[in-house]
Amino acid sequence: MPILTVDALDARHGLLHAVRGVSFAVEEGETLALVGANGAGKTTLLRCIAGAHRASGGRVMFDGTDVTHLPAHRRVQCGIALVPEGRRLFAGMTVEENLRVAAGRGRPGTWTVERIVEAFPQLGPKLQARAGDLSGGQQQAAAIARALMTNPRLLLLDEVSLGLSPIAVDAVYASLQGLLGGGATVVLVEQDLARALRVADRVLCMLEGRVVYEGRAQETTREQVMAAYFGLREAVA
Ligand code: ATP
Repeated sequence: MPILTVDALDARHGLLHAVRGVSFAVEEGETLALVGANGAGKTTLLRCIAGAHRASGGRVMFDGTDVTHLPAHRRVQCGIALVPEGRRLFAGMTVEENLRVAAGRGRPGTWTVERIVEAFPQLGPKLQARAGDLSGGQQQAAAIARALMTNPRLLLLDEVSLGLSPIAVDAVYASLQGLLGGGATVVLVEQDLARALRVADRVLCMLEGRVVYEGRAQETTREQVMAAYFGLREAVA
């Protein structure tokens, strides 16, 4: 049984219909990359799964339970963690304080500050630094680490590369690769198509709120996704 099933999900921002009848499933241990142009609805979809945005129709099933109407903090307790676009750390608190606050909100589990430092070595010397004083790459690592401290079974990552230097992106993905190799279940939004195809098991492309392509990453070409991205008829699955 899939750990996550999204069924005919709809979401709106006022009159704007941002997510339109989206359905897909994610198996435990799988990495799914969500791609699509700006405004395609990827962030809104992730936020609906996390409970940060209200769905106006359809269902989100997590581990066999309908979580569509659960508030975000209850979904965190179920094992769903969102790393939001823009990171949203508590800027005035230290990195360690950010991590410990999150730990109190999630599920019991094996993530500790020590394990975080093993997974994200760049955070080791920064534990007592104010989160707001970190570089972009360090902040992104801290945002992922904060989500991990809730011991999620499903990690939702929104544009981890955004605004980072290529070196910082490589460092964040190097740490993520360790996690992905360890069987974590991940849905990630990634603008860099080549990277999305490299790290994901499956890729799903959205256009104007709808799913227009879904396929196994290894069997998907960059050209197929680009055609779906721009809504060219022959690419639509
Ligand atoms: P991006 O890569 O730019 O983040 P996206 O694929 O994640 O794009 P969303 O951010 O989900 O797309 O946006 C989907 C649509 O909803 C867009 O038309 C966007 O302008 C609109 N939208 C998003 N957030 C809001 C909001 N808070 N209020 C009104 N409209 C919004």
